[in-house]
Amino acid sequence: MSVSDRARAIGERVEAFVRDVVAPYESDPRRDHHDCPTDELIDELKEKARAAGVLTPHILSDGSHLTQVETAFVLQKTGLSPLGPLACNTAAPDEGNMYLLGHVGSPELKERFLKPLVEGRGRSAFFMTEPAEDGGAGSDPSMMKTTCHLDGNHWVINGRKCFITGAEGAKVGIVMAKAEQGACMFLVDLPDPAIRIEHVPNTIDSSMPGGHATLTIDNLRVPADQMLGEAGEGFRYAQVRLSPARLSHCMRWLGACIRAHEIATDYANRREAFGKPLIDHEGVGFMLAENMIDLKQAELMIDWCAGVLDTGSLGTVESSMAKVAVSEALMRIADRCVQVMGGTGVTDKTIVEQVFREIRAFRIYDGPTEVHKWSLAKKIRRDWKAGHGH
Ligand SMILES: Cc1cc2nc3c(=O)[nH]c(=O)nc-3n(C[C@H](O)[C@H](O)[C@H](O)COP(=O)(O)OP(=O)(O)OC[C@H]3O[C@@H](n4cnc5c(N)ncnc54)[C@H](O)[C@@H]3O)c2cc1C
Repeated sequence: MSVSDRARAIGERVEAFVRDVVAPYESDPRRDHHDCPTDELIDELKEKARAAGVLTPHILSDGSHLTQVETAFVLQKTGLSPLGPLACNTAAPDEGNMYLLGHVGSPELKERFLKPLVEGRGRSAFFMTEPAEDGGAGSDPSMMKTTCHLDGNHWVINGRKCFITGAEGAKVGIVMAKAEQGACMFLVDLPDPAIRIEHVPNTIDSSMPGGHATLTIDNLRVPADQMLGEAGEGFRYAQVRLSPARLSHCMRWLGACIRAHEIATDYANRREAFGKPLIDHEGVGFMLAENMIDLKQAELMIDWCAGVLDTGSLGTVESSMAKVAVSEALMRIADRCVQVMGGTGVTDKTIVEQVFREIRAFRIYDGPTEVHKWSLAKKIRRDWKAGHGH
């Protein structure tokens, strides 16, 4: 798909910034005990992005959002380093939260909660998943156990959540809970003493600041005007957020895999074994060739789905297809990059080993591969029945 002139101009500026300014920070030791970049490091990078005019590059100065096809081009460039999305303020969960607030928030909520996020002042978190041991929401969000009820002018929320990316250190939370009317979403100032972080587990990935917290919500009181949209519409709003958010993960991680492939290609051309460069051994050359094919297929799948979202469609089916195709292709690419680089591939000398770990987690969040396939199979069944008069 062709890219507009404005997206090309923004994307080129972002690419130069990420390659020249951000990538040298990949060896910066400022990481927390979960190996995630610290807020001090991120704030320093954001300052540089602001100065370079590439902070929140997918949202324009008049508040409008690039189209999804344009966003795909720009976010892929921010992803060229695992630190790039953090520097440019296009990282999850902030990017998805900004999108949701931009589409569902009232003018007052946008002014209070969206503006600081777009300006890169503070992080946000999205509270949906609940611990498996409680029988709460996971792959099946309808199992949500966190409750909310109205008490005078406030909603009172109780429950437990887990895998809440960035909850530790976030300034804003979007919390999902169930009322009599159905699911609701609330905007919450953080930290709040009623939200107690139980622990932040060590996880395979390490790109997202604050890690993925397990927490208890104990009689959290939220003013009624901080409900996002209408009571009972929470799952519908989650759908508004989910398709673009899962596609933007594809965009950023495609950028990371493009870079990993470049690093593996460089290694295979310089390193020799058995009297010739590795790339001249068919086994290695074929791995890199397969990477090229998978990278192009991932790019095309993202562009296709982005084009569907740009028509105003929720793109539920298309984003499920794209998420599966892209995350599985990127997993193959990251694995081959590690393999091509031998022992060096599993060290932290390059970002290749981190990209491998990140993509492994990506096959689970924003819908595990099997859940997307299962919902696609249900659609195939529905369509078959409709076509056969059942
Ligand atoms: C790194 C990371 C970050 C995350 N960040 C957030 C966040 O910020 N906010 C948030 O709310 N959540 C977040 N999550 C949670 C994520 O959305 C859930 O992990 C995901 O929805 C799966 O839920 P679960 O872990 O409870 O798995 P389960 O529901 O227990 O499912 C386990 C496995 O069962 C299989 N399965 C389930 N249903 C089906 C089916 N219908 N057909 C076939 N197989 C099936 C799948 O293979 C699945 O992987 C994050 C998760 C990770 C790993």
